[in-house]
Amino acid sequence: MRLSRYFIPILKENPKEAEIVSHRLMLRAGMIRQQSQGIYSWLPLGKRVLDKVNAIIRDEQNRAGAIELSMPTLQSAELWQESGRYDAYGKEMLRIKDRQDRPMLYGPTNEEMVTDIFRSSVKSYKDLPLNLYHIQLKFRDEIRPRFGTMRSREFMMKDAYSFDLTRQAAEHSYNKMFAAYLRTFDRLGLRAIPMRADTGPIGGKLSHEFIILADTGESEVFCHKDFVDFDIPGEHTDFDSVEGLQAIFDKWTSLYAATSEMHDEAAFNAVPEGDRLSARGIEVGHIFYFGTKYSEPMGAKVQGPDGKEHFVHMGSYGIGPTRLVPAIIEASHDDNGIIWPASVAPFDIVVINMKAGDQACDDTCELIYAALSKAGKDVLYDDTDDRAGTKFATADLIGVPVQIIAGPRAVANGEVEVKDRKTGARETMTIEAAINRFVA
Ligand code: ATP
Ligand code: MG
Repeated sequence: MRLSRYFIPILKENPKEAEIVSHRLMLRAGMIRQQSQGIYSWLPLGKRVLDKVNAIIRDEQNRAGAIELSMPTLQSAELWQESGRYDAYGKEMLRIKDRQDRPMLYGPTNEEMVTDIFRSSVKSYKDLPLNLYHIQLKFRDEIRPRFGTMRSREFMMKDAYSFDLTRQAAEHSYNKMFAAYLRTFDRLGLRAIPMRADTGPIGGKLSHEFIILADTGESEVFCHKDFVDFDIPGEHTDFDSVEGLQAIFDKWTSLYAATSEMHDEAAFNAVPEGDRLSARGIEVGHIFYFGTKYSEPMGAKVQGPDGKEHFVHMGSYGIGPTRLVPAIIEASHDDNGIIWPASVAPFDIVVINMKAGDQACDDTCELIYAALSKAGKDVLYDDTDDRAGTKFATADLIGVPVQIIAGPRAVANGEVEVKDRKTGARETMTIEAAINRFVA
């Protein structure tokens, strides 16, 4: 991508409305724009990051055996009347009427709709287990939307829903998502700690929130500090192994970890003082097992091996991609801007032409840009005629992990500089060496 033909509306000044660093940096880097309170456009740079986050989420959901579908944002109120949540949900639900005066709503979550899909076509235990997910916009009319897309009214959620014949089988489904979440957040460059959670309006029996420790987090959390170094389940984790996944779950729940709603002072005090971590955190994921809470009122049942009908045991599993993007920034930035983990960076490499219009600089940059693009890298080529200082500031602000800098003096020697955004380390090397470093 040539910067001269791209769209990154950088802000020079710090936006006054931004209270936390991620919000400030997302606005300054031209990633998002607020359209009305708590409702955002994702501008091209932000969209690229969001897409990469979603690709990792999707990959890990698929690995764990979940199946992707797409459900609509607008739902009929009827389904929610069946479950009893139409009245119970309160003001967070945006209620709408269509032209026939039929009550509709913008979905804050999808348990009812997915249960309807399930009951309409699954009739036998032989079709279980089943886990259906989508990555879709949600709307919750939050009383206090703030911190940019961290807490917005319209936001994206990956929500998965599992269906099983028995509680035991449902616990295995729960453990699959538990392990998938550990892997997902790790691949996003984050350390998320599962904490026992309150089940809230979704209701349920077993529930964990995945929390990233950050000073700007809205939740108060308490946990054993060893969680910070626990091993993440590997790529070859067997998601069909009941014992294997139970062992992962048991390990990751063996030490104290709770949000303030579930906090037990006495249990926490039993943790040796030096091992206690009391901090603030950002909830990036939440998983629930809620048994037959929806399947009973909505009549979602299957025939079991005993020939009888059984209400299915369900769970739901949310991750917030539009919250994860600022959460990643909270965890990874410096005074100059964002520092993207390679896995979600909007571009892998930025090539900076220090003197656009200079034949040697132009030729060198074009050569590098073409070679790296051909090798499958996402390359941003800063071919603008901005001043060097502006170019460096932009590259640092938008946080691309590697900068290849081509200035007239180095280029005259057949060389460029390679800068690591995170460490700031710079290395001078031949043009060929610079290309080879990133072409596997
Ligand atoms: P919170 O406690 O932060 O209000 P919640 O418990 O109501 O969130 P869930 O129903 O568990 O949220 O939603 C699953 C995930 O969706 C959350 O873990 C979070 O990542 C994301 N999410 C929820 N509400 C918002 C929001 N207003 N803005 C952005 N992401 C959100
Ligand atoms: Mg939650």
